[in-house]
Amino acid sequence: MKIRLKPAAERAVRGGHPWVFSDSVKSESRQGQLGDLATIYDRNDKFLAIGIYEPESPIRIRILHKGKPVQIDAAFRRQRFLKSINRRNHLFGSDTNGYRLINGESDGWPALVLDRYDDTLVLKIYSTYWLTLLDELSATIVDLLKPDHLVLRMSRNIQALAAEQSNHSDGQMLIGDVSDPVLFSENGICFESHVRAGQKTGFFLDQRENRQRVEQLAEGRTVLNCFSFSGGFSLYAARGDATSVADLDISQHALESASRNFSLNEDDTRVSSCPREQIKANAFDWLKDNPDRRFDMIIMDPPSLAKKKSERKGAICAYQQLTRVAIGILASDGILVSASCSAHVRADEFFSAIPSTAQASGRAFKELDRTLHAPDHPASFPEAEYLKCIYLHFD
Ligand code: SAH
Repeated sequence: MKIRLKPAAERAVRGGHPWVFSDSVKSESRQGQLGDLATIYDRNDKFLAIGIYEPESPIRIRILHKGKPVQIDAAFRRQRFLKSINRRNHLFGSDTNGYRLINGESDGWPALVLDRYDDTLVLKIYSTYWLTLLDELSATIVDLLKPDHLVLRMSRNIQALAAEQSNHSDGQMLIGDVSDPVLFSENGICFESHVRAGQKTGFFLDQRENRQRVEQLAEGRTVLNCFSFSGGFSLYAARGDATSVADLDISQHALESASRNFSLNEDDTRVSSCPREQIKANAFDWLKDNPDRRFDMIIMDPPSLAKKKSERKGAICAYQQLTRVAIGILASDGILVSASCSAHVRADEFFSAIPSTAQASGRAFKELDRTLHAPDHPASFPEAEYLKCIYLHFD
């Protein structure tokens, strides 16, 4: 089908933006259906781009290619595949076998993610468009990456439609058979990942570099890891010679996973000898209700606090509230590490909200660092930029 766009959207697509919103479509040659490819022509009737058409979605077209006309076929996808893999070739040493191989739109693969956990790969799709291509994608993955296992994950919003349209389901094995959890290594630390039923693809691979930074800063510090999930930051802190680590999470499953991850690494005496505490609580309440506790380092990595644009302001207030209470129990010479994965809160807003809250506390501090995306999680357009993290060192 042929599509024409309103001028601003035409400019955006020309500039490389991978999404066309429904209100940016000026005309369609016919009623499009899910799975159609939409060819976008510019105001001079020249080919501009081609993308996945999604009739029900506010993101009406997800661009697959712009520039000169091309055939979107298996050979095209194989080339794209190689490009994504090659991009990661030299990023990690042999002690890291958990990382992202394809990061959606930012790698030219709209609504598709591929993560590696050692010899298990997890393909996560966010659009039913990919369902009919799964056999081809599996074959390409086997050919190029030779995994023992390939798991299919689907975002919640497409699961019902996928069940109607196909016999595919979330957590299904596409190649081999594996049960949760699988084990993998991140910078020499062994972790479990719940690839078939866990959040995302089973683990938060995007915080690897921040965890390393925490390891460098943790020596001699008592550490509180808020929103700890499977204890990623805590393990790095323990290996970095933290005096103690406390995991705080609302979920018992998360805390149990953290304990298993510590057990997996007990050969490392720095990990096995580090005193641990687990706190099952709502972080907002616990931080407020325990003003007499003290920690030399507090890590804050909450889940997304703004699922919609309209929740942006509330999310910023929540980050500020967490920062205020954390500073209240941060010891002198203490470090606050505060991360945000809310895409609707921009990095500049976050990087201004946290220091201004710190300033209002009246305590002197200096900023150590600001970080953005991990190298295997490139973000090629503003909406893809979700992760930011700031490090503040208080007197
Ligand atoms: N820091 C983690 C990822 C955090 S994911 C890592 O490095 O892997 C978010 C975690 O926050 C989940 O484990 C979830 O159970 C927990 N969570 C969500 N709301 C919470 C709350 N109000 N208080 C404490 N934990 C919460």
